[in-house]
Amino acid sequence: MEASQSPQSPLPVFPSGLEPKEIAQACGLDEAYRAKQLYSWIVKGAPSFDAMTSLPQELRALLDQRFGGLRSSSVSSALEDGDGSLKLQVRLRDGAAVECVLLEDIEGRKTACLSSQVGCPMACQFCRTGTLGFLRNLGPDEIMEQFYFLKERRGFISNVVFMGMGEPLLNLPAVRKACFLLSDPEGLGMSLRKITISTSGIVPGILDLTEHGPKVRLAVSLTTADDALRTELMPVNKRWDLTELKAALLEYQAKTRERITLELVLLGDRNADKESAEKLLRWIGPLRAQVNIIPWNSVPGLPFKEPSKAQLKAFSEHLASQGLICVQRMHRGRGVMGACGQLGDTLRADP
Ligand code: SF4
Repeated sequence: MEASQSPQSPLPVFPSGLEPKEIAQACGLDEAYRAKQLYSWIVKGAPSFDAMTSLPQELRALLDQRFGGLRSSSVSSALEDGDGSLKLQVRLRDGAAVECVLLEDIEGRKTACLSSQVGCPMACQFCRTGTLGFLRNLGPDEIMEQFYFLKERRGFISNVVFMGMGEPLLNLPAVRKACFLLSDPEGLGMSLRKITISTSGIVPGILDLTEHGPKVRLAVSLTTADDALRTELMPVNKRWDLTELKAALLEYQAKTRERITLELVLLGDRNADKESAEKLLRWIGPLRAQVNIIPWNSVPGLPFKEPSKAQLKAFSEHLASQGLICVQRMHRGRGVMGACGQLGDTLRADP
């Protein structure tokens, strides 16, 4: 039996990242219904091959031997915040680790924030993950297992955001497969509208999504509408500046008719003034967008200031007064360094 290869990860993909026809091939199952049975156990959250009691005992033992267990990764630590957030560190089979977070809001929505890469190559200056460098892409199994680990601990998950470690549009094949597995009506059946991909502004990735889907929600970490400042804070802007980014977003919107979320990490000393708000309004222009204001979550060693309450209020009120939909994100998960931009207890792969 040969496991299938992920196009971007050198590691074989475990069944948790495969759809039924791929499971049949990877597990050497001749009967399609066996692969469907296995798939159905996986989406129900079975913890091991042995728990799949509708499969013959010899097959369960064979699969266990073949893969060395149902999951390619394991939870190496779990931290709970007083606000109900849960951060897991997930150890991958090559010794590297990523983090994922379950955030619960006051309306009871449970959102899984998943990682798509080990580390991140984008080096955004205000983000802890950006200080780690990049090790490798995750496979779809490693992405889905973060979801299953959170689900095992917190039950039904209503939303997924690809806003953890990494730039999801630089690992689109695996993220696309995870979106399929999350939304497959034969499997987990989550609406694509409950899934958000958040990018730092990878223009070819946005155009790829525009053309080929999936039709999930798109969020862009904009931070500022000033090209020079954005280049300083987000090196991606050197490659695709605000003009190119906006052209891609307009194309995305013309095709999908979907509203885009623009995320603004507000840094008290850099982009929280009235002039920045006005530049933003001019840049948005005809784009149909909602702005999510994320007060910067402090990270030891990074040279920025959190915005004051007065700055946050003035900034949001200025945008709202011009008719922009503007949401201020809460500081959830800060007690466990699990809030936006704080992930990074990642260890490198064992030598
Ligand atoms: S903000 Fe996102 S894209 Fe930027 S360095 Fe952090 S994880 Fe990477």
